[in-house]
Parts: sequence; structure tokens; C-alpha cells
Amino acid sequence: MNNPIRVRFAPSPTGPLHIGGMRTALFNYLFAKKNNGTFVLRIEDTDQKRFVKGAENYITDSLKWCNIPYDEGPGKEGGFGPYRQSQRKHLYKKYVDQLLKSNNAYYAFDSAESLDNERRKHEEKGKTFIYNWHNRTKGRLTNSLVLSEKEVQDKIANGDDYVVRFLAPKGETVELSDMVRGKIRIDTNTLDDKVLFKSDGMPTYHLANVVDDYLMKITHVIRGEEWLPSLALHKLLYKAFEWGAPKFAHLPLILKPAGKGKLSKRDGDKLGFPVFPLSWKDPVTGDVSKSYKEDGYFSGAVINFLALLGWNPGSEQEVFDLDSLIRVFDLKKVNKAGARFDPDKTKWFNQQYMQKTSAKDLVSLFINDNPELSSIDTGYVELVIKQVKERATLTSDLWGLSHYFFVAPSDYAEGALKKVWKPNSKELMTQLIRVLETGDDSSAKGLQDGVKNWITKSEVGFGRVMMPLRVALVGALEGVDVFDIIFLIGKAEAIKRIQLLIDSN
Ligand code: GLU
Repeated sequence: MNNPIRVRFAPSPTGPLHIGGMRTALFNYLFAKKNNGTFVLRIEDTDQKRFVKGAENYITDSLKWCNIPYDEGPGKEGGFGPYRQSQRKHLYKKYVDQLLKSNNAYYAFDSAESLDNERRKHEEKGKTFIYNWHNRTKGRLTNSLVLSEKEVQDKIANGDDYVVRFLAPKGETVELSDMVRGKIRIDTNTLDDKVLFKSDGMPTYHLANVVDDYLMKITHVIRGEEWLPSLALHKLLYKAFEWGAPKFAHLPLILKPAGKGKLSKRDGDKLGFPVFPLSWKDPVTGDVSKSYKEDGYFSGAVINFLALLGWNPGSEQEVFDLDSLIRVFDLKKVNKAGARFDPDKTKWFNQQYMQKTSAKDLVSLFINDNPELSSIDTGYVELVIKQVKERATLTSDLWGLSHYFFVAPSDYAEGALKKVWKPNSKELMTQLIRVLETGDDSSAKGLQDGVKNWITKSEVGFGRVMMPLRVALVGALEGVDVFDIIFLIGKAEAIKRIQLLIDSN
């Protein structure tokens, strides 16, 4: 039997997760669920300098909101924990020692200043400094390849700071195979001897990532394209450990709406669309970033547009719920080319979800957004939503489209009033009140028939009545059919609003 599929989403808690990270999580989730596999969340927090408080909670809350829960991870033990690398610190030393012993790694004692010096000297000559076969034993660098064993032991015993570097092989070609990009060949002479471990006992990303993928029995590594340059090193590490490597799939970049350059966290604020699933308050600056949830997006719509960023179902279909995404998802259909992010299209998706969602299901969302409505009968709220939802794109649009069903206008749009209020309007509105008082109000149609008959019979002109009536009910020349409004708010309330308009003119 094949190994059970295990994938992981391995974010570093250095800030809020933006939609690129969410897409990586989603593709891992879809792949796991499609293949009856396990979706692991691993928090890669070895770099304590970049650690941001609240970021891990933000990540787990975002996964929850998007409905893509992890099977194993912090708080969900599955036999491979702990799932935070900072809590796995004790595990890595053994593997570094293994690499040192097999001569795949070495100690380096170069100070930050001496390395800066090297870098500067190279730059002066128009060159780039790379710590590797070029210079590792040329005498300017201080490492265990040039020092005697005794010198090395003395330095360590003396408490000197050191790092352990990977010894990238010279003159070899690494064959990489990526499920999205196919075969890639890398000349190892271009690689640098990456730092794997530091004397404070902390592994770097590369070592911890590979060791944990191995220990957690990860079968497929699905991550963003920005990690592709690390693949050769990771492959070499697997080889050095004599471990079988997982399969790799590097997802294409998400590009700015203009099509060029990677979408950045800052683009959202600059271009006026959210790039974060949930809102995030920067713990240092206190700045709050826009988010999909708070802007009125359905999580299903967010998932849907994320799925189509770099993946295509091979058909014309665009709207998918999570279950159908799981059914049709296929890593083979992930594109190599970057995926342009289109904020208008995300709105379009939300509109599709708005229309698909029943008014009944929107009620609690709407009341949540507008707690002042919580004492109002939910049956009434549902009827109102039914009236307006076809005009809504975001859930946050619903209030703007329906407020007049809940509160009488407190003022009137100036332009509208000027346009509709004629010398005989007062008289007409007074007559209209009478018509409504005596007319049939058992349905919107009954109300409409009564008013229209009167208008036709008395030849007062439709616009002359309907337009001020609309301003009285809504406060502006907007809104759904006036008779639907009168029917829902009730004749008495409608009459009150008409009287208010008369009195204020
Ligand atoms: N910790 C890395 C990140 O922040 C994980 C990269 C990977 O998936 O290997 O994205």
C-alpha cells in the first residue's frame, strides 16, 4: 500500500497571513482531502527576531474562517507533535551532528564583521560574495575545514559563537523534479553553504524544515514559488541524511492586478482592496488592515477565487463550493505562470455567492454586522433581505440597501427633494395619504392597484406622486419598488413618513 498522503502548511508567524499564504494553505488542504490525506499545520517560529505576537492565532483563526481546518497542528495532536518548531528545539541537534559526522556540514566561526568585510571587498570588485567552494578553504574564512580538530574543539569549549554550514558539493548537478515545473537541473557550484544551525541551539529554516518534514512523514511539499531556490539545498539535505525526499510542488506567484510583480501586503492598502482574510492590527504601529471578512466577503467566495489563482479546473466552470473543489482539484492543473490577482473578479465571485445564499441564511450574518437589529423579528429581516439581496455584492452592502425598512429617513437627499417637490406636491401627498388609509393593504399588489387607480382617475401624473412618495419612504430616489416597501413597513408607518415629508416642506 502507498504511504498515506500527509501535507503541511508551514507558515512563519511573522505577521498576518496574506492571500498568498491562504492559497498555499488551501491547495494543501484540497490535495489532502482529495486523497484522504492529512493536513498538518506546522508553525515555523525558529527565527525569534521576526516573531510577531498574535500572528499564530491570526493564522489559525483565518483557517477556521475559511473553513479549511487542519487535522494535526497546535492544539490538535496527531502523534507527530509538537507542531511549533520552537518547542522542537531539542530535536535538531542530533541531525546537525549527523551531518557534521558524515562531512556534509562544518563549523564556521566567522564573525558578522569579517563576513561584512568580505562582502564589501567583493562588491568593490563588482562581485558577489558567496560562502562556498570558491573560498571556504582559502584561508580568509575561519571554519573547521581549515582549523585543526583541536582548535575547533577549543573554540567551542571556549563558548565562541559558531554556525554550522552545509557543505554544498562541488561540480555536481542536482536533478530536481517539481510537480508543477517538471525537471529542473541545478549546478551545485552556484549554491552557497547555507547556515543550518547556530550556537544558540536554534536551527535555521532549512534544517528545521527538512528535518520536520521527514519526522512528520510529509509526502508532498506544496508551497509558494519563492521557495523554489531552496529546493536544491533541501534535496541535497535529504540525500545527505539518506532519506527519501517528499514530492514537491511550487505554486506560481500571485501577481499585482496590473500583471507585473508579486502582489505584496502593501498593495491592498495602496490599491484599495483587502489582501488579508481577517482584519489585523499591527501590534507596533496600531494600524488596522482591511480584510475580506470585515469588508463583507463570504469565506466561500474567498476560497473560490483563491482556488482559481494558479489552478484551473480544465473547464469553463468558475463557481465551486469547497466540496466540489475537493472533488475536482488536481495538482497537475496548477499553472507555471504567475496568476494575476483581479480584485473586480473577487467581487464578482462574492456576488455569485450572495445570490446563491438564501435570505434566511443571510439573516444572522446581517444581524451580526448590525447588532442594533437584534431585537427585530428575524422573519421580517428575512423578507427585507429577500427584497434587496439581488442588488448586493458584499454583505456589507445590505445595510445601505435596506436601512429604510428599519428606520425612517431622518433627512432627505437634497438634490432628490429639489427635483421632485413641486408646488402641488403637498396637496398630492395629502390626497395620497387618504388613498392609502382607505385602500387595500393586504398585499403589495393591492396597494399598487389602489394608488395607481387613483393616479389614473385623477390624472395627476405618475411621476408627480411616485417620486415624492419614494423620497418620503427612503429619503432618496433609491430603493426597491415603493409598494413592496409600503407593504413591508406597513401602511401606518408609510403614512407617517409621508406626513413627515409634507410637514418638513
Ligand atoms: N516557513 C516557511 C514560510 O514561511 C515555509 C516554507 C515551506 O513551506 O517550506 O513560508
